[in-house]
Amino acid sequence: VSSFDVAIIGGGIIGAAAAAYMVEAGARVVLFERAAVGAGASGRNSGALQHPYDPVLAELHRRSLALYRQLADEGSDFQLASEPAGLLLVSIAETSAATAAAELADAAPELAPIFVSADEMPAVEPTLAAGVSGCLLATGNPVAPAAATHAFARRAGDGGAVLRIGEDAAPAMADGRLTGVRLASGETVAAGRVLVAAGPWTPALVPGWAERPPIRRTWGVVVTTTLAEPPGHILEEVEIDATGSRQDFAFSLVTAGGASSLGSTFLDHEPDPANLVVPLLERGQQFVPALAGARVTGVRACARPVSFDGRPLIGPVPGVADLFVCAGHGPWGISTGPASAWLVSQLVLEGGAASLPAELESGRW
Ligand SMILES: Cc1cc2nc3c(=O)[nH]c(=O)nc-3n(C[C@H](O)[C@H](O)[C@H](O)COP(=O)(O)OP(=O)(O)OC[C@H]3O[C@@H](n4cnc5c(N)ncnc54)[C@H](O)[C@@H]3O)c2cc1C
Repeated sequence: VSSFDVAIIGGGIIGAAAAAYMVEAGARVVLFERAAVGAGASGRNSGALQHPYDPVLAELHRRSLALYRQLADEGSDFQLASEPAGLLLVSIAETSAATAAAELADAAPELAPIFVSADEMPAVEPTLAAGVSGCLLATGNPVAPAAATHAFARRAGDGGAVLRIGEDAAPAMADGRLTGVRLASGETVAAGRVLVAAGPWTPALVPGWAERPPIRRTWGVVVTTTLAEPPGHILEEVEIDATGSRQDFAFSLVTAGGASSLGSTFLDHEPDPANLVVPLLERGQQFVPALAGARVTGVRACARPVSFDGRPLIGPVPGVADLFVCAGHGPWGISTGPASAWLVSQLVLEGGAASLPAELESGRW
């Protein structure tokens, strides 16, 4: 007899939301998080809920917004404005912004891209430096970076899920069968099904994935500042591409709850965040001159779980009955995570009844 129907490994946005959905569906759920809820990227991101440009992910984003709306309406600490602030892709080269507007008009017309020339910019976003042009998109809700993950974890706990924080866990196997999870302390906890939602650390926990990991880490550093007059839009340098990996360093600025998150890096190795404060501020000042005098209140680094094809891996792990995975959201996990968690929850509970697009199936890789 299993103590739990489902054990979840990882207390990021995916694990926390999945725990809430499954416990609310009546399952006995236990979640293991080795550090703290939101200790990874889910508590340390930039806080932009935005359209991810890719049509498959855009659908996850659309559904996530509805799930976020529900979370905000429940009276949790998570807050979502009724209208998007707008996402302004900015560039010092006017042709880049114009090209982005033209390309996105074809690729994602729902974003209603508008090219904003350097001359027009002061009327649209007065905090930007002279000479900066942009492409304005109808997407972008700024949120406090950790708020949703904490709200989902609280909801899971309120629903009766057991949250075991400070426990390093791995799927436990006996005679080739999944039996539950094994903790670093040696304790084994029986569970009928296990969901690995350990973000960039997922490949180490899935049998067969460690040798040729389908998910790698891309480290991002974010500096927190307070600006007397922050931008009204979410700002991102045009050159940030869909996988977030075209270059090591690209400007972004997201303001929520009085704090502005200035980012970010896209590095293969774990950086010392303190070394990146000055370069990030210098890059940022080229776009928003007020950053020169801004008070720095914090700096944080975390790893994005970037999958081999830029889309998350969701669903049963081929070859291991009752083991499931949901990870690999790269730079879009906050924008798309709740819908992924909902989909995988359906698969775990109903064993395949949910309609999962083939492009997201965990076995595709
Ligand atoms: C700098 C930066 C900025 C970002 N900005 C945005 C943004 O603006 N918008 C957006 O949509 N996305 C953004 N992202 C991406 C987003 O944050 C991630 O895709 C998302 O948070 C991943 O969530 P997750 O739950 O899969 O993983 P994580 O948040 O990494 O959670 C995994 C958890 O598993 C735990 N864990 C790992 N191994 C074990 C184990 N063996 N036992 C127990 N627990 C374990 C970890 O401690 C961690 O808490 C950003 C990412 C970075 C790095």
